Amino acid sequence: MNIAASVGPALALEVADAESIAELRHQAEGCTRCDLYRNATQIVFGEGPGKVEIVLVGEQPGDQEDLSGRPFVGPAGRLLDRCLDEAGLDRQRCYVTNAVKHFKFTPRGKRRLHSKPNAGEIKRCAWWLGAELNIIKPKLVVALGASALYALLGPKVKLKPERGHILYPANRPPVLVTIHPSYLLRIRDEAEQRRQRRDFVSDLHKAVEFQPLKVDSQP
Ligand code: SF4
Repeated sequence: MNIAASVGPALALEVADAESIAELRHQAEGCTRCDLYRNATQIVFGEGPGKVEIVLVGEQPGDQEDLSGRPFVGPAGRLLDRCLDEAGLDRQRCYVTNAVKHFKFTPRGKRRLHSKPNAGEIKRCAWWLGAELNIIKPKLVVALGASALYALLGPKVKLKPERGHILYPANRPPVLVTIHPSYLLRIRDEAEQRRQRRDFVSDLHKAVEFQPLKVDSQP
């Protein structure tokens, strides 16, 4: 059963204007709305087939995504693919994107270590995420982790108490709240990792079963 809760408007009320994802991506390639474009290899925009019902939103591209220019192709993306498969959700039928479109990292020798985007960067980049949702008009958005949740629903909605719930922001598609798959990769305790992975698959399965609320017609 879906647990519904009313929440305030999504963070980005003003967003980019474009007719298609291709046009939007083209616009975003020149984005300088925050500083993250300076050190990244390239923008990593969302991708998916033309018509989808479900949009998956992660945090930001990682090292492999930055190099390839595609979202969720690194270790967390491969784990996401396996969990989607177990949940019965076909990634090829989803649009996959991130709250922040450029890779933020800290150089450490030859490595580039993931660095969490801050609130200002997430707000700036919601300009693109909001426009993606306006064009796609999905029946459900899956927030993968706290940064995605912040971008979609603002600072008052927290991941832990809302995990596994479907929230209904005003004038936006419903949002299913769950963890980011990279969280599973960081858990050291095997039993805990198994439990969290099982819960993650269970959360994703709610997207498969989701039916939009019917709005009663006025008498
Ligand atoms: S991270 Fe987002 S807002 Fe910042 S430069 Fe890249 S596309 Fe623009």
